[in-house]
Amino acid sequence: MRVLVTGGAGFLGTHLCTRLLDMGHEVICIDNFFTGSKRNIVPLLDNPLFEFIRHDVTFPLYIEVDEIYNLACPASPIHYQHDPVQTTKTSVHGAINMLGLAKRTGAKIMQASTSEVYGDPAVHPQTEDYWGNVNPIGFRSCYDEGKRCAETLFFDYRRQHDMPIKVARIFNTYGPYMHANDGRVVSNFIVQALKGVPITIYGEGQQTRSFCYVDDLIEGFVRLMDTPHEVTGPINLGNPGEFTIRQLAETVIEMTDSKSELVFEPLPEDDPMQRQPDITRAKQQLGWEPTVPLAQGLERTIAYFRGVLEG
Ligand code: NAD
Ligand code: UDP
Repeated sequence: MRVLVTGGAGFLGTHLCTRLLDMGHEVICIDNFFTGSKRNIVPLLDNPLFEFIRHDVTFPLYIEVDEIYNLACPASPIHYQHDPVQTTKTSVHGAINMLGLAKRTGAKIMQASTSEVYGDPAVHPQTEDYWGNVNPIGFRSCYDEGKRCAETLFFDYRRQHDMPIKVARIFNTYGPYMHANDGRVVSNFIVQALKGVPITIYGEGQQTRSFCYVDDLIEGFVRLMDTPHEVTGPINLGNPGEFTIRQLAETVIEMTDSKSELVFEPLPEDDPMQRQPDITRAKQQLGWEPTVPLAQGLERTIAYFRGVLEG
């Protein structure tokens, strides 16, 4: 199978390309290196089944493929808010271009959507039939609404052309190959703890998130792609274990044996107060659930960042 991974040099993309190569597929990775890194894919370049193309998904792409995983889009709030217009373009034009490619080639296509489609959710835990509580004009909207529009496009292509689409709603995922200065909470806290500098908690740290270890998520991706035509999603992929941000900070300090203090900074606008996936659908339709508890996943991620900071 010839598989295209957009955003393949990013955090999740790197893990996905590696997994697909291990499964014996030919992998074409495209990325514009906005948040991804050449370093991530260097270990893959020697593999004759791996090919990299520098390309921006907001422009059309003409290649032949059997499957497409559409991951291209900055995921960290500081990165997606850096150039919000480009973020919306990446989600919307990117989806149109990749769906067009899928239509021409007959490829199956999976969209990396997000729990952000639920916004600051009034339903807890979040089920896929919840329509969300999203501010259309705020700082996070370029990402949230871009991803929502991409979902709309996926389902309209399905209705108009009966295409094999799959939509995964990903909840906060962490692990090795995250950027040290990516700005997301797990990488921030681990790097701060290892450096012994203050741990930056936004707000009072009472907001919650559910953290999924990357290997579990990638297993969910592969299983979703492998489902029959009737299965389209949207399907929540995440770990239902829910923690406050303060709990996460304290756990990281303890696990790294760090002397870092906690400092409290203003809560960013529209920062969701709670987030936890209901994964009943993933269990039923994919036979999938996470297997790596937070402490174990953090241990592996801490070991990775120790290596990065020492190297
Ligand atoms: P990431 O920022 O590490 O990776 C995104 C990749 O997309 C980067 O390599 C970046 O350079 C590339 N990219 C950005 N704009 C592009 C463009 N216009 N053309 C080509 N490439 C482009 O983020 P990630 O955590 O690996 O996220 C991957 C996908 O999963 C994203 O679509 C993100 O929205 C989604 N997602 C991730 C999480 C998470 O917790 N990691 C949660 C929800 C959704
Ligand atoms: N956060 C924090 N300190 C940091 C980075 C993030 O307290 O240094 C908080 C952030 O305000 C949010 C949560 O951690 O409530 C998760 O943030 P992240 O950027 O990882 O992802 P989000 O789920 O908000 O998209």
